[in-house]
Amino acid sequence: MRVLVIGAGVMGCATALSLASRGAEVIVLERSVPGAEASSAAAGILGAQVEAHAPGTEFDTLLSARDGYARWADALREFTGIDVGYKRCGVLKVAMHEVEAHALAELVAWQGQAGRRAELLSDRESRAVEPALSDGVRVAVYFPDDAQVDPRQLLRALISAVAKQTSVIVRSGVSVRSLIVEQERCAGVRTEDGELRADAIVLAAGSWSSLVPGVPASVEVRPVRGQIVQLDERPPTVKAIVFGAGGYVVPRGDGRVLCGSTMERVGFRREVTASGVAHVLGSAIALCPGLGEAQVASMWSSFRPESASGAPMIGPSSLVGLFLATGHHRNGILLAHHTAELVADAVLGK
Ligand SMILES: Cc1cc2nc3c(=O)[nH]c(=O)nc-3n(C[C@H](O)[C@H](O)[C@H](O)COP(=O)(O)OP(=O)(O)OC[C@H]3O[C@@H](n4cnc5c(N)ncnc54)[C@H](O)[C@@H]3O)c2cc1C
Repeated sequence: MRVLVIGAGVMGCATALSLASRGAEVIVLERSVPGAEASSAAAGILGAQVEAHAPGTEFDTLLSARDGYARWADALREFTGIDVGYKRCGVLKVAMHEVEAHALAELVAWQGQAGRRAELLSDRESRAVEPALSDGVRVAVYFPDDAQVDPRQLLRALISAVAKQTSVIVRSGVSVRSLIVEQERCAGVRTEDGELRADAIVLAAGSWSSLVPGVPASVEVRPVRGQIVQLDERPPTVKAIVFGAGGYVVPRGDGRVLCGSTMERVGFRREVTASGVAHVLGSAIALCPGLGEAQVASMWSSFRPESASGAPMIGPSSLVGLFLATGHHRNGILLAHHTAELVADAVLGK
């Protein structure tokens, strides 16, 4: 079976790998370079518990993706020699005010009932887990099983793994101009170089997914800009991922600390703005005041692909032959392998 994948972000690369491992021939079309967009810009939090809002299918999916990550990271390292920085480092979600503290207690209650580890900590206990925390923290929830990866390393590993597959071709600098739709079926794509036909087409074009002409109107994806500032702490002081009401800090363990992030619906404007930087740095310093002394190393922004419903779009679309791996919004790094396996199942008729 021959499959075309549109986009070489984490979704396109992971899906290509899953398809190739099951015997499909895959061509990945990427208008820029693989990993150029959201996937390399992410913070890499595998926050199944910290990102969940309620029990149910969404929570179960996030957990299952997180719980399978260590195995995927190991497999990628064995295959490529690249360490993707997977660490089960735990996440602290802190409250500075009474209302937030109440919400945290509810979170602990329903996650505990679901059989998941979530510990409500006093201010003193929170600082025992993360000594760099602000004195303003009243209580915190600790999710010891949430984890992180380094998305840039993950993309390096995926691109390298894909390159090692003889049944996968990645064509960079090739923009898909439209789908070929014949007899109500998606039969291929048009690029500036001509037409390509295949048995199945996977749409993994991130925030640009609904802009490809021919994609059904039901596939609505819009960009949500996120800005990140990376600090360099020497020596490193922050050890745990810390979430507050306004943002988060993600220490990589080697002095790099990512401070994120904004959630802005401003279309495809790529700027890193003064107010965005002020927001993420203000939130980070409020959480861990010592970060005020760290050096600013770099800053960037990119676009989370958000679907109209807010949920990822995975599997067959309303157009026969077109499959979806898009709309993963805040959790695309976490859900990548899980999505890839589901899409490969759907494409191969399982
Ligand atoms: C600031 C920020 C922080 C984040 N933090 C986290 C986090 O901590 N944890 C987490 O799980 N997720 C996080 N995310 C979300 C995650 O990054 C995304 O959900 C995920 O990367 C989406 O992957 P993708 O492959 O769908 O999209 P992308 O990585 O955007 O890839 C889409 C690709 O398609 C290509 N493309 C588009 N149109 C075409 C076309 N017509 N023809 C050919 N190619 C095309 C693009 O060039 C691009 O390379 C974060 C995102 C941002 C922006």
